[in-house]
Amino acid sequence: MASGTKRTTRDLRRQNRAALLSQLFLNGPASRLELVQASGLSSATVSNVVSDLIGDGLVGEAGSVGSDGGRPRTLLRVRPDVGYVVGIDVGETHLRAGLFDFTLAAVATVTYPIADTRLDPERVVALASAGVKEVTAGVTGELLGIGVGVPGAVKPDGLVHAPTLGWSGVAFAGMLAAVTQAPVHVDNCARTLGQAEMWLGAGRGAERAIIALMGVGIGAAVAADSGRGVTSTTSEWGHTIIQAGGAPCRCGSRGCLEAYVGAEAIIDDYRRRAGAQPFTADGTEGVLAELVARAATPGPAADALDNAAEYLGIGIANLVNLLAPDRIVLSGWAGETLGVAILPGVRAAVDRFALSYMVGKTEVELGTLGPPGVALGAATLPVVEVLSAGGR
Ligand SMILES: [Zn+2]
Repeated sequence: MASGTKRTTRDLRRQNRAALLSQLFLNGPASRLELVQASGLSSATVSNVVSDLIGDGLVGEAGSVGSDGGRPRTLLRVRPDVGYVVGIDVGETHLRAGLFDFTLAAVATVTYPIADTRLDPERVVALASAGVKEVTAGVTGELLGIGVGVPGAVKPDGLVHAPTLGWSGVAFAGMLAAVTQAPVHVDNCARTLGQAEMWLGAGRGAERAIIALMGVGIGAAVAADSGRGVTSTTSEWGHTIIQAGGAPCRCGSRGCLEAYVGAEAIIDDYRRRAGAQPFTADGTEGVLAELVARAATPGPAADALDNAAEYLGIGIANLVNLLAPDRIVLSGWAGETLGVAILPGVRAAVDRFALSYMVGKTEVELGTLGPPGVALGAATLPVVEVLSAGGR
């Protein structure tokens, strides 16, 4: 009986630490009074928990603000030197590793190009551990964990299924943990990017945002802010059908969104048009950037982008009608490359194809995190573990 009571008290204590630490992480700096208002905990509890968090080196003071007639209130924030986290983006054209402090400020980044899109898990583990070694070289301080964003699904048993990499049931977290001797957390790259855009980017403040990850493939994360943190789920939006009997898709079906607005699909569309010229750039990323530059003047490149904008707008209109998001964020490396050029066409198509009473509530915006967003999002995974454990 006594031990049962003890465990309950300890659970409650950890829950309170987790709530205040998360609140300070996502919305800090904040005063004790603001923490009382946001958490619903008593001021005595907030005071006690904050003292513990300061004593444990997790929270520090960040100046003070004056209050009308009263004494100045001390602002509190999560300390960046709690430890380091690494985020790894296993992309289709590159592997990027970033080192971040605990508040997710970037410390170091490396990018390795991937020439072959179907990589053995062992080779990706070797590249990822080389990346971890390179970004943490010379850094003193605890490595709290490694997060990895992969272009595929991570099942509850932790196994990764990523058809575009040729992976089926790969125990990637365990493989990388064995080499790096650090805790490893793996999740879908659209979901990790979505988390980063919601915490630090264009999704901030949205109630229900859809973060579209645009690359060779197309993914989407649906992120909702419950007021107590952001939860997100992924969808295979890229393989929703927008044209019966349409263009063949690499998933084996036809008429998928990805077969029209994926980076390679857009480039192929241009190549089939009259007047198309060969590209001088190498690689999908370089070629897409060259295509966007050519689209500045009327011609086949501009026509190919108009076509992509219309299909992307149809895909987004379907999301609007299904899910009524208040914000849609176009992100990922191809979203970044295409963004400014296609955004007006995408918005016009969304207006044309979505139900008018639904679309009025939805903003379509460009992501603000740029290409490092997936690695940054992956780095949120170990941070979430530490926050939800109340810092222990
Ligand atoms: Zn498909």
